[in-house]
Amino acid sequence: MTGSDQLDTFLATDPRDVGCEQAMRMLHVYVDLVATGRHAPDRHPGVAAHLSACGPCSDDFDGLLAAVQHSPEQARPNGRRAECLRREAAGR
Ligand SMILES: [Zn+2]
Repeated sequence: MTGSDQLDTFLATDPRDVGCEQAMRMLHVYVDLVATGRHAPDRHPGVAAHLSACGPCSDDFDGLLAAVQHSPEQARPNGRRAECLRREAAGR
């Protein structure tokens, strides 16, 4: 018994990894950064480390990113939301 398995486990875990709970709390912020083309891992290295290590959280990230990127409001900036705001302004 050399304990090398434990060492491998230790080395495979990024010390910056923030864990599932913190990653989930920051996920929408992180996705927003990625979706707007900013380099998210620079700002949240702990979240980036966790997403690369944790399958379930990585899946959540992919799903949220896809939802943000395919949002009609982002694809058409002059779409329904702008019309709604205009109507609200005219109603006063
Ligand atoms: Zn996780």
